[in-house]
This record gives sequence, structure tokens and C-alpha cells, in this order.
Amino acid sequence: AKAAGRNTLRFYDPLMQAAVHRRATLELDMRIGLERGQFELFYQPQMDRDRVIGCEALLRWHHPRDGFVSPAAFIPLAEETGLILPLGEWVLRAACEQLARWAQDPAFAHLSLAVNVSPRQFHQSGFVDQALAALAGAGADASRLELELTEGLLLQDVEDTIRKMVRLKGYGVGFSLDDFGTGYSSLAYLKRLPLDQLKIDQSFVRDVLTDPNDAAIARTIVALGISLGLRVIAEGVETEAQRVFLERHHCHAWQGYLLSRPLPAAEFEALVRERAAQAGG
Ligand code: C2E
Ligand code: CA
Ligand code: CA
Ligand code: CA
Repeated sequence: AKAAGRNTLRFYDPLMQAAVHRRATLELDMRIGLERGQFELFYQPQMDRDRVIGCEALLRWHHPRDGFVSPAAFIPLAEETGLILPLGEWVLRAACEQLARWAQDPAFAHLSLAVNVSPRQFHQSGFVDQALAALAGAGADASRLELELTEGLLLQDVEDTIRKMVRLKGYGVGFSLDDFGTGYSSLAYLKRLPLDQLKIDQSFVRDVLTDPNDAAIARTIVALGISLGLRVIAEGVETEAQRVFLERHHCHAWQGYLLSRPLPAAEFEALVRERAAQAGG
């Protein structure tokens, strides 16, 4: 029966069948994982020159059978299936709880925390109330929270996007435009969005020293940000030479493997303490 089954499947395209099956399995595993606490936030330091000014929360999934699963593998599917809604809400709550814990400790109270928000999550009708409830529930300071949005957001209802941003900004929440330069945003939209920061995508940073086009794009994003009154941060900085190049071109905020990969909370805290001790002594 098994052999016949295989033949039948072959007729329908085994590769496609396998892909459908993998997706269904992954989706179910994600739902179970969320219930069973298999997700965790890691934190990557965000720097201003040599000072840690905050961090970006990056989601990690400890799958009981497959081990660590990369967000690149499950976030797109979570968006397609709508699972990003409960998952994203969990991320917001976990991030706000972390912020509230850090607020108790003078070593961490100055840090900002950036959270990635997917377009589908942001466009859901109750998003602003959900974010405010996460902040209030944890007792976290809204002005320490930054939301990282992508240009994909602008494919839908720009007016709604602006309204939501303005409401949250009223409470002190900050906004970054993530992966800037890789998506769909026109400069006309960019001008209208109440942003605080642009993030230079790592695809431009990677070869910034060797590819004149990437260097030109990076410099242009910095100049654009400055002239719009926005902060600019580079992501994916892996070498001191890249950091120096960016700083020479007036981008002094950065994050990347040059300092650290995303870390579990306790390791991130140890790194912040260690650097503060170095700076002090
Ligand atoms: P992103 O927001 O652009 O995050 C930056 C990615 O680059 C992260 O990958 C980070 O670990 C990685 N990275 C940081 N520094 C370096 C570096 O110096 N070199 C290189 N090569 N990579 C670096 P990660 O953690 O695998 O996340 C991938 C993507 O998954 C994120 O891209 C983001 O779009 C999405 N994601 C992660 N967490 C969340 C979340 O909580 N919610 C949502 N909606 N999306 C998330
Ligand atoms: Ca991001
Ligand atoms: Ca802020
Ligand atoms: Ca990116």
C-alpha cells in the first residue's frame, strides 16, 4: 500500500506534496510551541559608537525535535497563516516584561528595546490597544520601546499606518524603518511617516568597503535620514573597518557581530555590565 501511495503521490508532484506537508507540520509545531513556552527572546546590543544604548529583541524557537529553528524559516509562514498574531502578541508582552525588569536596575534602566513587528500584526485592528496593554500589564515605560516596521507595511492602508503610529507616539513609543532600501517605500511615503529612525539594511553594509554601489547607497541613506531629522543605525556590522567607514559618513549607531550576536537575556546583561566596567575603569 505504501508503494502504491508513493506512486500516487508522484503523480501529484512529490516535491509539492512534501512541501505542503512540511508547512502543515511546521504550523502545528508552532502552535504547540507557543503553548509550551518554546519561544524565547534573544537580545542584540545596539551601539552609539562604543556605548550600548539599547538592544533589538530577536525571536528564537527551541524546537524539541529539530533544535533551534531560525526565524527566517518560521516568521514568513507565521505571517501567511496568521499565527504571527498570537506569536507577535507574545513577543510584545515578553519584551515589555523585560523592559520593566531592566527599569528596576540602574545598570539597565537607560536601555531601549526594539521589537520587530510584521505588517500583518501591525495592520490588525486592535494593534495599538494590544501594545498599550502589553506596556501597562508589565508596567513598562513606553518611551523605552521602539517598534521596527518594514516597508512591506506600506503595501496596505498608509493612512491607517500613520494613525496607529501617531497614537503610539503619543505615549512615547519610537519607530524605526527596518531593512531600509530593500522594499517598496517611496520617498513620498517616507516623508509622511512619523518615524524616529532608519535602519540601513545589512545587505548594503556587507560589502560597503568593496562595492562602490553599496557604499553610495549607505551614504545616501545616512544623508536622507539626517536631512529628514531621523536617526540612522546600521545593522549587520561585522568588522571594525565597516564601523569606521560608517562613522566617517556620519552613521555612528550600529549593531552587528562585531560586538555580539543576539544573546539570551542573562548573557546580554553580563555584556552590558562588562562594558560599563571597562568604560568606568
Ligand atoms: P531583521 O529584523 O533584519 O534582524 C536582523 C537579522 O540579522 C537577525 O537575524 C540578526 O541575528 C542578524 N544579524 C545581526 N547582526 C548581524 C551581523 O553582523 N551579520 C549577519 N550576517 N547577521 C546579523 P535573525 O535573528 O535570524 O532574524 C531574522 C529575521 O526574522 C529578522 O530580520 C526579522 O525580520 C525576523 N524576526 C526576528 N524576530 C522577530 C519577531 O519577534 N517578530 C517578527 N515579526 N519578526 C522577527
Ligand atoms: Ca529588525
Ligand atoms: Ca524612545
Ligand atoms: Ca535586515
